[in-house]
Formats: sequence, C-alpha cells, structure tokens
Amino acid sequence: MSAAPSAAPLRPVPRPGVSAIEAYIPGKSGAPGAHKVHKLSSNETPLGPSPAALAALQASAASLALYPDGNSTALRGAIAARYGLDPARIVCGAGSDELLSLLAYAYVGPGDEGLFSAHGFLVYRIAVLAAGGTPVAAPERDLTTDVDALLARVSERTKIVYVANPNNPTGTYLPFEEVRRLHAGLPPHVLLVLDGAYAEYVRRNDYSAGLDLVLEADNVVMTRTFSKIHGLAALRIGWMVAPAHVTDAVNRIRGPFNLSSAAIAAGAAAIADEAHVAAAVAHNTVWLDRLTEAVTGLGLAVTPSVGNFLLVHFPAEAGRSAAEADAYLAGRGVIVRRVSAYGLPDALRVTVGGAEANAAFLAALTDFVRGAHA
Ligand SMILES: *Cc1c(COP(=O)(O)O)cnc(C)c1O
Repeated sequence: MSAAPSAAPLRPVPRPGVSAIEAYIPGKSGAPGAHKVHKLSSNETPLGPSPAALAALQASAASLALYPDGNSTALRGAIAARYGLDPARIVCGAGSDELLSLLAYAYVGPGDEGLFSAHGFLVYRIAVLAAGGTPVAAPERDLTTDVDALLARVSERTKIVYVANPNNPTGTYLPFEEVRRLHAGLPPHVLLVLDGAYAEYVRRNDYSAGLDLVLEADNVVMTRTFSKIHGLAALRIGWMVAPAHVTDAVNRIRGPFNLSSAAIAAGAAAIADEAHVAAAVAHNTVWLDRLTEAVTGLGLAVTPSVGNFLLVHFPAEAGRSAAEADAYLAGRGVIVRRVSAYGLPDALRVTVGGAEANAAFLAALTDFVRGAHA
C-alpha cells in the first residue's frame, strides 16, 4: 500500500449540491403558553376532509398487512373520472412534493438548470439541488411570476421550469394566456411543470390550471394535491397528469408502493365528493375578501390573493415588524407563517381559517397594530 497522502475523505460525503440545500422548515404548529391555538401557518382547510374520505380511511384498516396497489389504480381512476382524463396519463405521489422531486430526478442532472420565479415555492429549489442541478431564480414583477423574466433565463442547460399557479406564498396568479405565452417561448426540450396546488380556490375567468396545455403539448405537466382543499395533508397524496413519455419516466424511478392503501382509498373518496370541495371554495371566497378588507383597513398592505391564504406586509421599523407581529400573534395563540426563506422578511402568510380562527387573528392583529403590545 502506498503511504502517499490521500484526498479520500474520512467519512461519507454527500454529492455536490446536497449541502447547499437549506432544509424546508414547515409552518409552526404550536404556541407555547397559549391555551387555544389557531393554526393558520400551512394553508390547510378549516373544513377538514370529506366524511366519505374518513369512512374510506377507516375501511382501509382491514387490510393493513397487505401491500398497497403499487399503481394506485382506484385513485387514478377516480381522478380520471373527475377530470375526464386517461388514467394512463396520471401518476400519483406521496404528496405532490414527491412528484415535483421525481420530475427533477428524471430530467435534471449535473450541469443542468432548473428555473422558477424568485418568490416561488421552496420545494423547487430543493428538488433541483437534490437532483444535482443548478437552481435559477427569475425576478418577479409586483410579487407575480414574470413570463419575460423567466424566458430571458432559459438556456440550453435549462431542463425544467416550475410555476406555481397560483403561487405560494404570494397568492398571485398568471392568467392562462400568460402561461401559454411562457410555453410558446420555451424550447421543446424544456419541461414546464404547472403546480396547481391551489387551483380549486381560484375564482377568475382568465385562470386555468393548464389541463388543456398538458393535453396539447409534449412538454407540460400539471401537478395537484389532496393536501389543501381536500383536507388530507396528513395522508400525503398528490397527482400529476403528463404526456405518456413523462409518466413513463416518472413511473420508472418512483417507489413501487409510494402511496399507502389508506391514501389511495381516502383520496378516491375525496375527489368524488364535489359538494365538499364546493363548500370549501364558498367558505374561502367569503373569508378571503373579508380578511383582505379588514387587514387593509388596519393600514397594512395585502397582496391580492386568489388562494386560501394572504400575504400581509409589515413596515420594517422596530415595534411594527413582521417578526414582532409573528411573535405577538403566537402569544395570542394565532400561528402564522414567516416567509423570510422566500425572500419576504417583512411579510407574514396567513391561511384563511374557520370563522373563530379568523376572528382571533383579526382581533390580535388589530391590537398589535394599535400598539396594545407595546
Ligand atoms: C402545499 C403546496 C403543495 C402541496 O404539497 P403536498 O406535498 O402535496 O402536500 C405543492 N405546491 C405548492 C405551491 C404548495 O403550496
């Protein structure tokens, strides 16, 4: 054996890129000391899941010893029936987060770039880095995805573009014409991923989650989730619809049993309960307006949102900052989301909750603004 000094590391070292990832920090779920906690930090639905989904979940307990159906056939069938799709074009994931990552693993490698907008969902950056690629962020205009800025950053190295529409945490959206313009400007080798996590909530005539584009084009994927309007975040269920060559690639690399039987059964029941979804939309539409109006009335700027949350802006000055508001609200049992990691240190994201939580939020925020905390 040679005694020459070796560059071999003394312990296992992750691939380049892995150490560059700042781990995703979920919204807080508790407030020490507060007797009643209102969690408005993770965009969950105040209505909870469909009763039919709960019944299906309970029934699934009878077969816990058996492996789940690795193709999620019942769930893909229910999704296909709801949206008039070919089940072969659908892949289910353990949350849409898994699918966003699998798309990066399938299409992005060292030397490749993954593109998204500056205040886009944090999972995109993590997925691109974890796949060994280089993340590229395009600036936004008025906290809204800027199609021209994205297109200006497309290069031969670009392999994937992620657009959350509407976006989290800003709550803003791109009209479908703008999504089409983005697609038209992309070279055919670039995969466009339209993340429609909040699509059901949007009430705008010029909005579309992008299904038509997925069906027309050879390089567009739409991802959706059961974590938001369907109220099944704990079960981890997402799905994507894509061209057959993309579903083929993702099916090759996903875990063979990536959804549990409980998730498959509950998801299939949830998507069939259209009345439950309609009730959630109705609740959100009323409260999104009320909260926006009330917070604006306190003199705070609110970014116009089409989702189930709002982005509230605070002055950077001492005594009135987002960090102080966050701490004050937490002390009153109202948990909201700081969004510094999204490049928005002076804003808080607040989920539209139930009537009681919304009232608690507004009461606490009013006291904060009026200086009752000082
Ligand atoms: C919440 C959210 C998701 C959904 O994640 P799941 O893994 O399905 O729970 C995806 N994209 C965006 C923009 C989100 O806010």
